[in-house]
Amino acid sequence: MEKDIEKILLSEEEISAKVSELGSILSEEYAGKNPLVICVLRGAAPFMTDLVRRMTIPLEMDFMAVSSYGKSTQSSGIVRIMKDLDTSVEDRHVLVVEDIIDSGLTLSYLVDNLERRNAASVKVVTLLDKPARRAVDLKPHFSGFQIPDAFVVGYGLDYAEKYRNLPYIGILKPSVYS
Ligand code: 5GP
Ligand code: MG
Ligand code: MG
Repeated sequence: MEKDIEKILLSEEEISAKVSELGSILSEEYAGKNPLVICVLRGAAPFMTDLVRRMTIPLEMDFMAVSSYGKSTQSSGIVRIMKDLDTSVEDRHVLVVEDIIDSGLTLSYLVDNLERRNAASVKVVTLLDKPARRAVDLKPHFSGFQIPDAFVVGYGLDYAEKYRNLPYIGILKPSVYS
């Protein structure tokens, strides 16, 4: 185990089983719809690439990067699009792939933005959900794990851009912050 990790919250095996389960559910949901699957960079990249390989239907992929202004530990709700889609979402069934929903402010902006571009539907799949910290009324349509209010890293999630490549999801040692 990486020395900065205090505790593994979700193992590689647990994540992989959950991603397969979500892949089956989403394959049924989007059969015949050629969905546009959107990865919210950078944290959702490992989840997205594993998930689409568990989806057994035709689909398209695109990527978006957003930044949320405010204190570094909290979303402000003011979101800026740093990299926009290359694909038009008009009349498309859009599936937004997120790593984690915390306050929900980033995602609520994004869903609103995509709906206003006249997508046929906009739904969200998140690997992790921290419902305790929600600041807006937003529920993911599909969710992997509900987790407690702790700062987690790994499988795409970073602290100061580190730990994204850990194959599991873990809680950081407090000493790393100080
Ligand atoms: P929200 O707008 O829902 O508050 O912010 C969601 C974003 O905050 C996530 O996409 C992620 O970048 C970051 N975030 C929220 N909670 C955590 C966490 O526990 N660990 C990490 N590494 N990032 C988090
Ligand atoms: Mg994210
Ligand atoms: Mg981050």
